[in-house]
Amino acid sequence: MELGQGLKCDCLLFDLDDTLYPLTTGIAPDIMNNIQDYMVHKLGVDDTISLELCILLYKQYGTTMAGLRAVGYQFDYDDYHSFVHGTLSYEKIKPDPVLRSILLSLPIRKLVFTNGDRAHASMALKRLGIEDCFEAVVCFETLNPTSPPPLPAEELQIFDIMKHLAHPEHGVELPKSPILCKPSRDAMMQALKVASINPQTTILFDDSFRNIEAAKQIGMHTVLVGTSERRKGADHALESLHNMKEALPELWEEAEKDEDVRNSSKVGIETSVIA
Ligand SMILES: [Mg+2]
Repeated sequence: MELGQGLKCDCLLFDLDDTLYPLTTGIAPDIMNNIQDYMVHKLGVDDTISLELCILLYKQYGTTMAGLRAVGYQFDYDDYHSFVHGTLSYEKIKPDPVLRSILLSLPIRKLVFTNGDRAHASMALKRLGIEDCFEAVVCFETLNPTSPPPLPAEELQIFDIMKHLAHPEHGVELPKSPILCKPSRDAMMQALKVASINPQTTILFDDSFRNIEAAKQIGMHTVLVGTSERRKGADHALESLHNMKEALPELWEEAEKDEDVRNSSKVGIETSVIA
């Protein structure tokens, strides 16, 4: 199908947190509290700096988790995820039949691309009542299949990133994270590769502006979600996915045309696919 300016679209890629369900559910602050608890109780971070460090790592590395690994903390990925997401009150996420019918009305490939883990994505999508609306979920485990083995205690060294950013030392670089996550270009490219997605014909919906910027740089069409204020780098801005039809009517117009063509010429093929 074709969007304005001759842009073709054959795939819709959706972020999960604060995109498929809104920020107002209150899940985000719960996740942040759990991350801080993990840092203090499992990794021994001083609780007077846990909030500041949590935010700083999130900003530098895409997720706090990726930042914690980068600066040298050792932990099992599954242990982290079950601590951070395992106790969440998922009932805060309400079923969204409006979103479900919007998604089902679009006969285009639809996938979820989240930095979260598989269990969290599955719970959230189930609560929304849209778990069957997607071809696949590209999640943490897709890009980071295994936890690295722990280092011996004597080799553990924590890079003091707060000190480094406050007083950068010449020649000292920020350590890299072994974790792949948005908005890194490598994570984006890997996600597209595993799901056989062509960025030039894909629209990304995400509430994070830096993810939108990164997606734009690799050629995707972008929709910033959670605000109606469009920023440079985002092709569209939507307060909620419920407004998709008003913002991107071309998707439905073309879907209807495609449907007409299929109905008139490929009835047999269409039926066998459904069956
Ligand atoms: Mg998000």
